[in-house]
Amino acid sequence: MTISLIHKAMEPIVSRDKVKELVRVNPQVSKFSERLIHILLDSSAIYAGHFELLGGQHSSRFLRFSKIAGRPAYVEEIAKELLRLIKEKGLLPEAIVSRDRSGHLLAWEIGRQAGIKEIIVGRTALDRRPIELVNGVDVHRGSKVLIIDDLITSGAGVLKLKELVEARGATVIGVAVFAVRENPAVSSLPLDPLRLAELLVGQYTFGLPHRALDPDECKLCQEGVPVVRSRDLA
Ligand SMILES: [Zn+2]
Repeated sequence: MTISLIHKAMEPIVSRDKVKELVRVNPQVSKFSERLIHILLDSSAIYAGHFELLGGQHSSRFLRFSKIAGRPAYVEEIAKELLRLIKEKGLLPEAIVSRDRSGHLLAWEIGRQAGIKEIIVGRTALDRRPIELVNGVDVHRGSKVLIIDDLITSGAGVLKLKELVEARGATVIGVAVFAVRENPAVSSLPLDPLRLAELLVGQYTFGLPHRALDPDECKLCQEGVPVVRSRDLA
């Protein structure tokens, strides 16, 4: 797909009211709510368009965390609030595992603020190769690990990281993410005993508020609107 088609197929949502409609802020961070909306707007992080999500489903809304990750002061603020929630939920870990996408910058900043000694990165190649834990530091047997990511869409990536951590004899004590896409597939994930510490719950769908669509029931596909693959957006 050419750049010009990508521009036609997506644009940032710049209306405060529209962003507020699309985003449900976790009540536990309600004091941070207005600030979050400001950050989402100022960094142009929410897009309208026609998107193919990593799991293959289609959506007319997309949260692009890399836009926020490009603003260090915002990452610092979000990390501070998420860390407050992590501590409140008793999820302070010995090590953090994250993925090598923009969510890693959030994991790194939380680790820095919390004085965590080790952050281990899982490589999730855009060509959907299996995730591997790759940097020089390995997960120590018996250590308490918190998985941190920017966004849970289907939950498959988080489950794979959990499996890799547990295969090394460590324990996953929780998952902390910036946002969770509201989706029955996510709420029914076998994430026990994982506990989520999320800041936002976004509704990135059209017409059917709690789910993305399979391509064969997607109106935008039927109208011939070019599709943007989320994996091409980083
Ligand atoms: Zn579609």
